Order: sequence, then C-alpha cells, then structure tokens
Amino acid sequence: MPPSAAAPIIEIDGISKSFGAFKVLNDLSFSVAPGEKLALIGPSGSGKTTILRILMTLEGIDSGTIRVAGDNLYQMERNGKLQPADDAHLHKMREKIGMVFQLFNLFPHKCVLDNVTLAPMLTKGVAKKDAEQHAMELLDMVGLADKAKSMPSQLSGGQKQRVAIARALALQPKIMLFDEVTSALDPELVEEVLNVLWRLCRETDMTMLLVTHEMGFAHDFADRVLFFDRGRIVEDGKPDEIFRHPKQERTQAFLKKII
Ligand code: ADP
Repeated sequence: MPPSAAAPIIEIDGISKSFGAFKVLNDLSFSVAPGEKLALIGPSGSGKTTILRILMTLEGIDSGTIRVAGDNLYQMERNGKLQPADDAHLHKMREKIGMVFQLFNLFPHKCVLDNVTLAPMLTKGVAKKDAEQHAMELLDMVGLADKAKSMPSQLSGGQKQRVAIARALALQPKIMLFDEVTSALDPELVEEVLNVLWRLCRETDMTMLLVTHEMGFAHDFADRVLFFDRGRIVEDGKPDEIFRHPKQERTQAFLKKII
C-alpha cells in the first residue's frame, strides 16, 4: 500500500540518547507516514536498533519528543501539562507497536499456539477461543498452522522467527518493528522469513520499520530508506536513490563495502 499523505504516524523530533559518555543518537528527527515501509540501514553501532528499542519503550530518551499516532510516547498530558509518562500510559502506547527481535525469544516451555495466544489473553483479556482462532489464522499466514502444537525446540530458526512474527501480530499493532530478524539464521532459512515480511508488506497497511543488512530485500521492500552513521541520518530517500545514486560519500563507501 502506498504511503498516505495523512499526518505522520511516527514523529521523532530532536531526540538524543547516551549510554554513559557515549552519545548513540544525536539530535535525530524523522517522520513516518501511516502504511509506510521504512528500511533503516548503516554500519553496526550507528544507532538503528536503539531507535527501535526507544519506539518500543524498552529504552528511554535524554531529550526530544516522539509522537506515535498523535500521542506523546514518553510524556502524557495531565491537567493541561506535559509530564513524564507513567506505566499506564506506556502500556497504552506499547499496544500500538509490535517488535520482532534478532533472537526470537519464544517461551521455551509453551507450544507454538500458546506462544501466540498468551499476550492477547493476558494483556487484552481476549477469550481463549477467540485468541486461538486468531492465532491459527496468523500461523496459517506464516505457513506454520501444522506446527501449532509443536514446542519451540522442535522448530528450525526460520520457523521460530515466523512464530515470533505471528506472536507480535497477535496484538494487532499499527506499527511493526523488525530488528535484523534474519541475521541469526542460516542462509538457507533467510528466504522463508523474508517471504513472510513480503506478504505483510503487500497484504497489510501496517507501518513497518525494518533494520536490516539484507540490502537486496531493503531495496525491494522499502518505500523509503534511511542511512544511519554515528547516531545521525546521513541520507533519506527512495531505495533507488540511496542504492543506485547515493549522494553522500559515507553512504557510497558503506554500500561499496557490502554490496
Ligand atoms: P546498530 O543497531 O546500528 O548496530 P545499536 O543501536 O545497537 O546500533 O547500538 C549503537 C551503540 O550503542 C553501539 O555502540 C552499542 O554498543 C551501544 N549500546 C547499545 N545499547 C547499549 C546499552 N544498553 N548500554 C551501553 N551501550 C549500548
């Protein structure tokens, strides 16, 4: 689905973030349109994962603002004043966003179906029967309906990652964040996970942010590519512009090394 001209679903304005003395994000700003598919690329350590973790409220920020679907992520309005977000606000904001990690982090002692139904039942109070029906639809979508009763230890890495995607989708987020979801997989298992991302990209209007080293996939998948270096966006453009005609020397040097 093409990006909408509507108000941005994510607005990041002047955020900075340090770990100790190390400034990982430096006065960073960008917006994402509803339905937009964004690839975040750049050298290791340039801050891409940190941005996803901040959006997922797994890390805080030192300064700047982030709005998601019109609401401040780390602040809330009370009595007409902005204040730091409390747990209830963060919980509400987290429901808009799902994340899939490099390492799948499935619950090892739960079967595939329970891995997918647990969060909707516990956090949203969805009835077991409804959660299971939705989970089976999602498992079918990722090609794993026949593994519903399997344990994670019986699955390949690619299958585990597809369950992790179904699990994140079970909470029906508006925005999905994918953090190098294929980089822990054997090369022959990468394709099956990319195929699921393709399907989501083509068949849903979800906003998707993808950190990846799969440049071919980033080129085909993304509406827009952000190239990061040292906590800043060095280049922001359409995939063809970034991959074929990068303007910045740093982007050119990075792409020359890895393509
Ligand atoms: P990328 O995803 O572009 O590889 P990251 O966002 O993972 O980059 O990391 C950016 C930098 O921040 C790295 O140098 C990393 O070591 C550092 N970093 C990330 N998380 C932490 C943390 N929790 N504590 C200290 N340093 C961190």
